[in-house]
Amino acid sequence: METKVNRIQNDIETLAKFTSTPGNGVTRSSYTKEDRLSKDYFIGEMKKLNLVIHEDSFGTLFGRREGSLKDAPAVMFGSHYDSVVNGGAFDGVAGTVAALEVMRVLSENDFANDYPLELIVMNAEEGETFGPSTGVTNSRAMMGTMTQYELDTVKNRFGQTKAEAMREYGLEPDLEEAARDPKTIKNFIEMHIEQGPVLDRENMEIGLIQYLAGIGRYTIRFYGSTADSTAPMSSRKDALVAAANFIAQFDERIKELGPDVTGMVGKLDITPNSNQFVPEYVEGKIEIRTFSKEIVEKIDFKEMIESLLEKAGEAFGIRTELDEIRRINYPNPTGPSIMNGENVEKMQLICEKLGYSYVLINNGTGHDSMIMTDFVDTNMLYVPSRNGGVSHCPEEWTDYESIKKGADVLLHLVMELSKEG
Ligand SMILES: [Zn+2]
Repeated sequence: METKVNRIQNDIETLAKFTSTPGNGVTRSSYTKEDRLSKDYFIGEMKKLNLVIHEDSFGTLFGRREGSLKDAPAVMFGSHYDSVVNGGAFDGVAGTVAALEVMRVLSENDFANDYPLELIVMNAEEGETFGPSTGVTNSRAMMGTMTQYELDTVKNRFGQTKAEAMREYGLEPDLEEAARDPKTIKNFIEMHIEQGPVLDRENMEIGLIQYLAGIGRYTIRFYGSTADSTAPMSSRKDALVAAANFIAQFDERIKELGPDVTGMVGKLDITPNSNQFVPEYVEGKIEIRTFSKEIVEKIDFKEMIESLLEKAGEAFGIRTELDEIRRINYPNPTGPSIMNGENVEKMQLICEKLGYSYVLINNGTGHDSMIMTDFVDTNMLYVPSRNGGVSHCPEEWTDYESIKKGADVLLHLVMELSKEG
């Protein structure tokens, strides 16, 4: 059994038309008209396969194929189809279309699954739409970690809260209705484009993820005061010198913590940012990535950053401030998301059988799979991104043949996991 590349191409090209910025990449924000048009397309395709279709109160679309085992947990597979503003046609969509194609192949081959199979099609994954750390909405609603507070506070670029956007879309968000007992899900499998250069550069067809690093984000602020460049050194309150001092201390502290964590100040905004004036104000962004659950339990990162900030502020006589950019109801930083190791081995064997080259890979950003690892045996596979791995832009590209190969691996894994014993 294998998937068909022409159908995959047709799905992706059709979905790419549902954009609010024709000619300038794909713009398909969650809970918009373009979102609904795409969903209707998926529903139409799912109907052809006689799947039992259900849309929950967050807009997550399920297409279920019953198996011989009644009331057994489902093998769930899929991804998202929303995009950033002026994004590409492949982020999320490649995996969603691959999962749909798997259902088609199973259907035309009258495949006899024991466990029920569920295609999951998600529409609110992108964190850009409602601001940092507000993405992966569908999986959080499904796993019961979404909050009413978030629904009522975060806003999109049209000024609507998440709940308001959902109501206009025709949904009444209901946390209880959307929450699903994790015991009803046997596996969660997501195929996705790599959004990085590794597979293409190494000429590999499939990337098998073992874990995704955890993430922590913070905003730091230094309030000095400006003065002319002739101001005596002893009189200055230079925000940038304090920031530079903090950055050096922070870098040292992170290095001392060993290989389980990385961190940096990756962005600085300096006011007035002029060669003639003493910097009055500096705002910086910290990003921390974690590679073990222990480091997150052992170290209080917020306290660590606060104390370094205080020290730098005191040394240069200026006020400092820390804000956490965190996912509501989650620690900051989060621990890494660890995939099911047995299924990684299964996929290695499948790749060998199908003659597809593969590599174990652990880079990547946020995905719904990341949320799912806390509750369900979860796995992810990547297919190569071209053009240097750029994503979230019109130049994002993955070859249709590459998506087909990923879909084949997904197909064979789903078939194996759907069998008893
Ligand atoms: Zn994505």
